[in-house]
Amino acid sequence: MDKVSAGYDQLTRFWLDTAPARGVVVRLDDSLTQAMQHHDYPEAVVTLLRQLAGAAALLASNLKQSAQVILQAQGTGDVPLLCVEATDALTFRLYASVREGAAVATDASLASMVAPDGHGRFVLTIAPTEGQPYQGIVALSQKNDDGETIDGSVARLLEDYLSNSQQTETRMWLRQDGDVMEAMLLERLPDSTDAATPAWNAVVAQAEHAFAEHFMPFPYAEWLQFTFVANDVKVHPAQAVKFACSCSIERVLNALKLVGEDELQPLIEEQGKIATRCEFCGKAYEVSAASFAELFRRNDALHPPGSQLLQ
Ligand SMILES: [Zn+2]
Repeated sequence: MDKVSAGYDQLTRFWLDTAPARGVVVRLDDSLTQAMQHHDYPEAVVTLLRQLAGAAALLASNLKQSAQVILQAQGTGDVPLLCVEATDALTFRLYASVREGAAVATDASLASMVAPDGHGRFVLTIAPTEGQPYQGIVALSQKNDDGETIDGSVARLLEDYLSNSQQTETRMWLRQDGDVMEAMLLERLPDSTDAATPAWNAVVAQAEHAFAEHFMPFPYAEWLQFTFVANDVKVHPAQAVKFACSCSIERVLNALKLVGEDELQPLIEEQGKIATRCEFCGKAYEVSAASFAELFRRNDALHPPGSQLLQ
């Protein structure tokens, strides 16, 4: 049995014939280790990136076109940015920005590291390869009825967001064992009636129970049937999930173009080149003074002064 069929680094979509529910479950093993090996983050940051990677893979499996799901937690704390991107081809990459010298507690919550001031944002972007991106934003911290601040977990923030935006009950579970992350999304069928509520509640309880346990690699077709015992579980074929970075010298050059020649010229004069590193995979890129000059010469030739507004 190959690794994907055996349950490693794979995603399985499923539905229940006996309850108004469909779902997707994903397990990240070597892919997560590969994504993380380019970084050296505090443990709490690594844990949250793993959770975001599991969640992003689940959401990416629902994309109906060539697109990316980007999950970001943004604030002004010791970790002002956590970012995970996943594609419809089920590849993902991740990074965090951690302030130099920051001491992040091992058990730090998402909101406490990203935005201890309570003004953090959780941003979900769907960016199609062609067409306009769609963005949803929720607060990392919310007040309950008693006015107390509640810090949302990755699963809770996404559950609330998806339940509201899709107008159907959605639940998400995440669990980690060492370097391995497992995540599951369960969605109530939108057209299910009130009479189906007990059946929905029962499968939610079964999923809750399963995710409270430690886990082992297992072919998901069997694991799902075991988890949702007394239900008839139907599965789509397992799909591989991989770490992959889409960085390239072309993208680096495009980014430099956006920063602009005037801004970068002093750097070229001082160092004779621009050296940069991909934030996601650590790959080093170097742009020589000659290529830098060429980049903006080419740009000028294509877009003579005054023509920018016509682009
Ligand atoms: Zn890269």
